[in-house]
Amino acid sequence: MIHVGIGYDVHPLVPGRKLILGGVEIPHMKGLDGHSDADALMHAICDAILGALGEGDIGTFFPNTDPRWRGAPSSIFLEEAARQVTFHSGRIVNVDASILAQEPKVMPHAFSMKANIAKALGINIKRVGIKATTNEGLGFIGREEGIAAMAVASVDLPEAS
Ligand code: MG
Repeated sequence: MIHVGIGYDVHPLVPGRKLILGGVEIPHMKGLDGHSDADALMHAICDAILGALGEGDIGTFFPNTDPRWRGAPSSIFLEEAARQVTFHSGRIVNVDASILAQEPKVMPHAFSMKANIAKALGINIKRVGIKATTNEGLGFIGREEGIAAMAVASVDLPEAS
């Protein structure tokens, strides 16, 4: 049975932080703020996978009050999501995501992001979609106050699991 999940995440853009999306450090004057490395793309994909399993969200597995996850690379969250899929005797069919960022241009880094995400999930890079859009200057994303990401995941699970 094919199950789908959806994920969304957003982090504020602030000076003095690295901008990390899809595990790639992107040169920029500002970076995403958060407890971990604040990789909104990986967080959204993680939630999409956990959602397809009917599990709790990323905050359930990795509370942002836990000092262990301070500054943690978000690939560990994806690795845990993949472990949960295995625990449910499932298989990730594909993940697809969109990054909503006014600045900087992120698509030049899409291949590296896909490679990082595929590696963390243990799937073929062809099963990972990354797209990006500006927010046409509108709202908090348009004002470059934050970057958001949305994702879907498709997971093949045994019947009646
Ligand atoms: Mg997050």
